[in-house]
Amino acid sequence: MSAPKPKISKEAVPMPKQTPEERRYNFKEVAIGYNQENALLEAQRCLQCREAPCIKGCPVGVHIPVFIKSVKESKFEEAAKQIKEQNSLPAVCGRVCPQEEQCQSKCTLGKIGEPVSIGRLERYVADWEREHGFVIPEKRPPTGKKVAVIGAGPAGLTVASDLIKLGHEVTVFEALHKPGGVLTYGIPEFRLPKKIVEAEAEYIQKLGVTLKTDALIGRLYTIEELLQQFNAVFIGTGAGLPTFLGIPGENLCRIYSANEFLIRVNLMRSYDFPRAATPICVGQKVAVIGGGNVAMDAARCAVRLGVKEVKIVYRRSREQMPARAEEIENAEEEGIEFEFLTSPIRLIGDERRNVKAIECIRMQLAEPDKKGRRAAIPVEGSNFLMDVDTVIMAIGRTPNPIIKQTTEGLVTAEWGGIVVDENGKTSIEGVYAGGDIVTGEATVISAMGAGRRAAKAIHELLSKK
Ligand code: FAD
Ligand code: SF4
Repeated sequence: MSAPKPKISKEAVPMPKQTPEERRYNFKEVAIGYNQENALLEAQRCLQCREAPCIKGCPVGVHIPVFIKSVKESKFEEAAKQIKEQNSLPAVCGRVCPQEEQCQSKCTLGKIGEPVSIGRLERYVADWEREHGFVIPEKRPPTGKKVAVIGAGPAGLTVASDLIKLGHEVTVFEALHKPGGVLTYGIPEFRLPKKIVEAEAEYIQKLGVTLKTDALIGRLYTIEELLQQFNAVFIGTGAGLPTFLGIPGENLCRIYSANEFLIRVNLMRSYDFPRAATPICVGQKVAVIGGGNVAMDAARCAVRLGVKEVKIVYRRSREQMPARAEEIENAEEEGIEFEFLTSPIRLIGDERRNVKAIECIRMQLAEPDKKGRRAAIPVEGSNFLMDVDTVIMAIGRTPNPIIKQTTEGLVTAEWGGIVVDENGKTSIEGVYAGGDIVTGEATVISAMGAGRRAAKAIHELLSKK
């Protein structure tokens, strides 16, 4: 008689975290990560489903049960190799991907309990590989074809790593002094340590990709000039231009776009001023306007800079907040207050033109429209003043217009994004695009998925030439 199968736990192995009391005062990573024992326990929960619905939920198609099986057998190097076949940034994705809406939302175990913690296992494997030394996969022989990639965010880095493995020569042009895009300048250290992004970007360079930083395309070269030196071009320039509300008083002092605020804190490390060169000026009453991940990140940075009162002002209710549920909970645990159904209509300054209050109005939700979205409508006469000394606008970002302005014949949408077909091909022969520049603000993994599709199409194009 065979031994009875061990009972599968309905509960996932929890992620060890810094307590809210500790983490309010530091920029260290909040989630500490699984140890080997945790990883083995969690991997044992995977049912190894034949159909593997989890794979369908992954925009880059990682072979999830295959790598989890390797973890279960303590073959961590093997697991890393299996993940890397589809995903060149696993330590990043294991930390910031909204798995609860993607692979984990499709997991069979989710029907009877908590789904397998795919993201935590991916993170464990990626961290194990980084600590034990990256394995560089074999590349195809050189094809003699050259590709220029504009932007070293998740979309650009994915295109670069896929194409270099196929034998093409790849050069990435990045406007900033460091690669990573939003991973480096936007997402804070306590959610995604910069050493992780640096290591994954370094791995891509070790594959043979040339990275040119401080290289702003549209100024250094135009796309037309790049096409004279390269056989194909990929545009992955993201959506880095901040949006403002267009209300009176937005040009007062101490009003930041979330982009500027997060770049100062993350990329320029202003939380370490004066050891770091860039300062940041925040008071004791900060209001962050917006309800997405960017708003949560800005508010949580403000807490760690020592601000006493941090409020998130959002015009809809908690259920409609676009931020990840986990990030909203983290923000609440750290003492951030939420003003739901509230919209700013005017910013008021003191005699030195520093912001001192926001005139707000209460909102109510209309009945859902055909898409189920509920518009926020102002409640007449409900105006009130909120005392503040710093305001951070986190209400959305659009593409920087420089590529559009300097590229004749490139078709763009009214909002500024580049128009592409299902393979990422633009209106110009040999020019492809993907990531936030095409979709508007989305996710790391959707930008990587677009990068993978474009790399496949570029490879097909170059194989015909
Ligand atoms: P980007 O990451 O924006 O990279 C574009 C790169 O192109 C940048 O490095 C930029 O400097 C460079 N560039 C721009 N113009 C030029 C030019 N003309 N020449 C050369 N280089 C140029 N997503 C998640 O999945 N999970 C999260 O938790 C999450 N949190 C977020 C938090 C914040 C604060 C922000 C802002 C975004 C967050 N996102 C999150 C969204 C996610 O980061 C983006 O969807 C993703 O980074 C888009 O990738 P990308 O490669 O298209 O663009
Ligand atoms: Fe494992 Fe869940 Fe994928 Fe099934 S659906 S293979 S249980 S991760």
